[in-house]
Amino acid sequence: MTDSRPGLALHWKVLIALAMGVLLGAAIHEFWTASTWSRFGVGNSADFRAFRPNPANDAAGAAAVVIRFAADLNDFVGRLFLQALRFIAVPIVLFSLIIAVAGVGDLRKIGRIGLKTLLCFGATLVIAVTIAVVLGKVVAPGTFVTAQTRAHILAQYAGEATQRVATAHQLKDQGVWAYLLGIIPTNPFNAFANAQMMQVVASAFLLGIGLTLIPRERSAPVVAFCEGVTEAVMALVRLIMFFAPLAVFCLIVQFVASVGVGALKSVLVYCLCVIGGLAIVLFLEYPALMYALTPRQNRMTPGRFFRGMAPAMTLAFSSSSSSATLPVTIQCARDRLGVPSDIVNFVCPIGTTLNMDGTAFYQVISVLFLAQLYGVDLTLAQHATVGVMSAVVAVGTPGLPGASVIMMAIVLESVGIPTEGVAIILAVDRVLDMCRTIVNVSGDAVACVVVAGTEKAAVQSK
Ligand code: ASP
Repeated sequence: MTDSRPGLALHWKVLIALAMGVLLGAAIHEFWTASTWSRFGVGNSADFRAFRPNPANDAAGAAAVVIRFAADLNDFVGRLFLQALRFIAVPIVLFSLIIAVAGVGDLRKIGRIGLKTLLCFGATLVIAVTIAVVLGKVVAPGTFVTAQTRAHILAQYAGEATQRVATAHQLKDQGVWAYLLGIIPTNPFNAFANAQMMQVVASAFLLGIGLTLIPRERSAPVVAFCEGVTEAVMALVRLIMFFAPLAVFCLIVQFVASVGVGALKSVLVYCLCVIGGLAIVLFLEYPALMYALTPRQNRMTPGRFFRGMAPAMTLAFSSSSSSATLPVTIQCARDRLGVPSDIVNFVCPIGTTLNMDGTAFYQVISVLFLAQLYGVDLTLAQHATVGVMSAVVAVGTPGLPGASVIMMAIVLESVGIPTEGVAIILAVDRVLDMCRTIVNVSGDAVACVVVAGTEKAAVQSK
């Protein structure tokens, strides 16, 4: 999403809100003690905050009530933002995936190119996710949290964690066949109503395939309807993101005020882990793949690729949306990299919806980080589950700002990690979103170059 209003761009506002929230939260954590409460007539702050009657709080004055109201309002705004993002998760996955799969209906006409495109998306995704699992395990960003901070967070979410682990165990005990069968819902409306995302994804794929099998004049109105709904939902995303600076401020104040800045130090290691890993995908994985898969006489050198894609990468960074960047991605791949337009026009739109290496990478690191933070000891098989689930979920993630955060709960739930951890991630999400969107957009151009190369289509030097 491009911020068309004059003044500061949205990502700067979010960054400033983030910094202000950290400062205020740290100040509250440091200086607001039990004796501060008692100055306002509050003897037991926990009971006072929870509206529980306690004679120790009988002397609480109007100032104490106003402070409690401000704290509750802060909490409400943060939660409302998260809830609004959850609200759009089901419709956006359902309708944008139906459009994408119905679009792949052309696959039967273009056959070979379509298959190569999907194989290329799959290959880059598998490599990116593998790098993420290894990096997340080796660096272990969640272990940089101090024992005290971790204990605080664990105590706060202990009940939730136990419940999630139990659910995950139930899922694991179910067996692979039952799990696979469960992906296809017996009643898709049930899946939508209960936000069963894997089932929503499966329903969208099946409906999309169904649409490609009926005459075009019958499917066109349905696809147009899905496009209309997707546009409306995207407008809602823009509206919700308008409040992102305020919401990020509220969430981070509440988080830092309750756990202190110590926890943010661990978030810093996590951020560096995400950004460093995305750089490995962008500057090592992609050039290596293009080198290996493009014909020698027309090899795409890293310098030529990054120079050509610079405008799209810059827009991806500032908009945090691969959908918004799509027209520029197409223009860069075609006019600056010299990939034939029939390949660019096929690969880029599908890639914007399905090819999300940066998103998958980010989800793996984030989920491993939260597992380490909550002390959930993942087995080797669960690491694999995180990788596979992140890859699958990334395919269903729309190219919109902050979309990963909405989808992350599915991966978290698959291995029994409290979904509330998303609040910790959200505090720094905007910056990481800008970085992973660059990878998402570049990945689409890599697929264009590779498919054109294997097709022996002339990639013209510019
Ligand atoms: N913002 C990303 C994109 O548009 C999606 C995500 O949140 O990972 O590609």
